[in-house]
Amino acid sequence: MIPERCLTTTPMTGLARRMLQLWHRQPADWPQLADGLAALRQATRRSWPVCNALVSAQCNPVRLASASAGIDPASLAKRPCQLCLDRLPKQQKAIEYRQDWLILCNPAPLFDPHFTIASKSHQPQRISPALDTMLALTRDLDGAYTVFYNGPKCGASLPDHLHLQAAPIGALPCERELASRICGNDGNSARRWIDWVRDDPVRVGLTPHCYRPGVILVGENSDAICQGVALVMTLLNKINPVEPESMMNLLITYTEDRWIVWIFPRQAHRPSCYGSGPNHFLISPGSVDVAGLLIVPRPTDFDRLTPKVIGDIYEQVLFSNQQYAHLRSLLVEHE
Ligand SMILES: [Zn+2]
Repeated sequence: MIPERCLTTTPMTGLARRMLQLWHRQPADWPQLADGLAALRQATRRSWPVCNALVSAQCNPVRLASASAGIDPASLAKRPCQLCLDRLPKQQKAIEYRQDWLILCNPAPLFDPHFTIASKSHQPQRISPALDTMLALTRDLDGAYTVFYNGPKCGASLPDHLHLQAAPIGALPCERELASRICGNDGNSARRWIDWVRDDPVRVGLTPHCYRPGVILVGENSDAICQGVALVMTLLNKINPVEPESMMNLLITYTEDRWIVWIFPRQAHRPSCYGSGPNHFLISPGSVDVAGLLIVPRPTDFDRLTPKVIGDIYEQVLFSNQQYAHLRSLLVEHE
C-alpha cells in the first residue's frame, strides 16, 4: 500500500505534463532537490572533439556521492536503500506508473528535468524486468523523454534496487549525433555511419568503433525490440561472460511510432584512472557518460581533462575493436 503523501493523481494521458508539474512543484517543498538544481545551473561545461565526435563534460559536485559509491555487497549492506518507498524523504512525491513503478524527481539532477523511475519492490538491477517498462514509458511520454538503464556493474550506484532514469529528448549527445549523421548534407552518411547488419524482426546496426561503439536497434513492434535486445545480450555474454547479466548501458527513445534503442557494450565497470587520489579521476561512467556527456564531480579532475584522457576512459570501459568485430560477426551469422 502506498502512503497517500507519496502519490499524485496519475491518469496515463498527459503523463509528460504531470511529470513536469511535479518537477516544477517539488523544489519548493524539498530543499535537497532545490540544492541539486542550483548546483546543476552552476555546473561548468566544456566540449572536446574525441574519437571523431564531440564529447561534452559537466562538472557537477553534487554527483560526488554517486561517483564514489561502492557497489560491492559489503558496501551495499552498510547503507540503507535510498529507493525503497519507506525510506524516501517525506518531502519526495511520486507519480505511480503501471502499478509497479514510481516516477521520482532525481535530487542530484544532470538534466532539467531529470527523473528516476524506481521499481516499487526492492529487487536487483536487471534489464529483463525493466525493458518492457522502458518501451511503454517512452511511448506513454510521447517521445518527450529518453529513458535509460545502467547495468549493475555499468554505472548504477544503487544496483540493489531496480531503477531507470529519464532525460529530456535530445539532451544526450548520442541522440544529436544520430540526427546530425542522418540529416547531414551527404545523403549517404547515415548509411555509412551505421553498419546495418540485421533487418528482421528489427533493424540492428553498429556505429563505427572509432566513435563510442554502440549497437542501434530500430523497430515498431515492442515484442520484436525485446527479442532484438535479448539477442544482443546473449551475444554479448558470449564475448564477455559476466554475471548477473552482460555488461552494457541501454537508452531508448520513441519517435514517429518507432523505438530507437542504443546499447553500449562494456568491458569494464570503471577505467584504470578511477579513484579519489590527486592523480586519479573520480569518473564512474554510466549511460549518460557513454552517450557522450561525461559527468565529472571534482573540479580538479575537470580542469585536468584532455581528449587523450577521455579517449582512454572510453577505450577502457567500452568494447575493444576486437570485441566489437566479434560482436558484428555473431550478429551477422546468427540465424
Ligand atoms: Zn530498495
